Amino acid sequence: MSFETLGLAPPLLRAVAAQGYTTPTPIQQRAVPEILAGRDLVAAAQTGTGKTAAFTLPLLHRLSQQPADASRRHVRVLVLVPTRELAVQVEDSVRTYGKDLPALRTALIFGGVNIKPQIETLRRGVDIVVATPGRLLDHVQRRTVDLSHVGIFVLDEADRMLDMGFIRDIHRVIALLPAQRQNLLFSATFAPEIRKLAEGLLRDPATIDI
Ligand code: AMP
Repeated sequence: MSFETLGLAPPLLRAVAAQGYTTPTPIQQRAVPEILAGRDLVAAAQTGTGKTAAFTLPLLHRLSQQPADASRRHVRVLVLVPTRELAVQVEDSVRTYGKDLPALRTALIFGGVNIKPQIETLRRGVDIVVATPGRLLDHVQRRTVDLSHVGIFVLDEADRMLDMGFIRDIHRVIALLPAQRQNLLFSATFAPEIRKLAEGLLRDPATIDI
């Protein structure tokens, strides 16, 4: 199977080729078509399987099919991750794979750093937010982020999020999202708490266990 047969837009195929990828990894082969079709997804995948591209490529494709209203830009994709390091990594992937797409804007939101530059970035309008839960909720309280137009919600490394005690924060964030949206959940393991979270979050999900 090739990236072409997965149905990704030409700018994304160019970005993938520029990275030197020739063949989609197993999780990419299975996840990309489901995400492109708009389905919810739950995937058991470790780091190193290519899971970041497995959600980043199709979500960029879907965003590129609905061009932003530049005069009134809304956050349309929210990726929630457990750590600053992962946030940096995921946002880097979004930039790398999205480099040939028309002007998508991203915000990288995590704690332990000055909040002002983040507020400024959000104020200028972004399409994609990659965030850790605590700092995101800080922005919510300050009303510096609006999550009411999020159409795709990604929960990455959900097991680590739960290990780090983020479950209540995750539920707080989910409560702020519109009812009509696509949900993607990635986790290395499926402890009972993850299953419970998945059951509450996902609607008729495709299930991938690599
Ligand atoms: P991840 O599992 O998302 O942390 O990705 C692991 C590594 O695999 C990253 O360095 C990616 O750049 C790389 N990668 C992702 N997809 C592919 C692919 N289809 N072919 C080769 N390398 C890939």
